[in-house]
Amino acid sequence: MIDERPLPVTDDPADAPMWEAALRGELVVQACVDCGRLRFPPRPMCPDCQSLDTGWQKLSGRGKLWSYCVAHPPLLPAFEKDAPYNVAVIQLDEAPTLRIFGRVVRGGAASGSGEAREPVDPSLLVIGARLQVVFEKVADDVALPLFLLEDDVA
Ligand SMILES: [Zn+2]
Repeated sequence: MIDERPLPVTDDPADAPMWEAALRGELVVQACVDCGRLRFPPRPMCPDCQSLDTGWQKLSGRGKLWSYCVAHPPLLPAFEKDAPYNVAVIQLDEAPTLRIFGRVVRGGAASGSGEAREPVDPSLLVIGARLQVVFEKVADDVALPLFLLEDDVA
């Protein structure tokens, strides 16, 4: 049984630069040094040219809502207190074939006090809605991507 929110491992060489960027409030994806293909999620080899030479590219963090679901109980205890919450799939502006996951949350003051941001009302989740990434620090080494509706960006 998972009682605490599971957190990602952030010291794996394959994706550590992504987690370091997240702590700085930046969204980065891998960029193949040999052919330039962007890829996400992080992995050691380019699927186009099989190169192991990888760089990282900073993105704007802007995109649009591609899909989503809204989770309701019964859920694992670690997630039940947050319900109902959304899990969204976001298509990134600079790399439309790349989609990342995150929650769409309300804007306003950043959660510097440690309070988690609230999910938006599900009626605001419209496919194609414009979104902007923000990061929520949930542990010393972990900041998770969240998304604000573009109209809600402070
Ligand atoms: Zn490549």
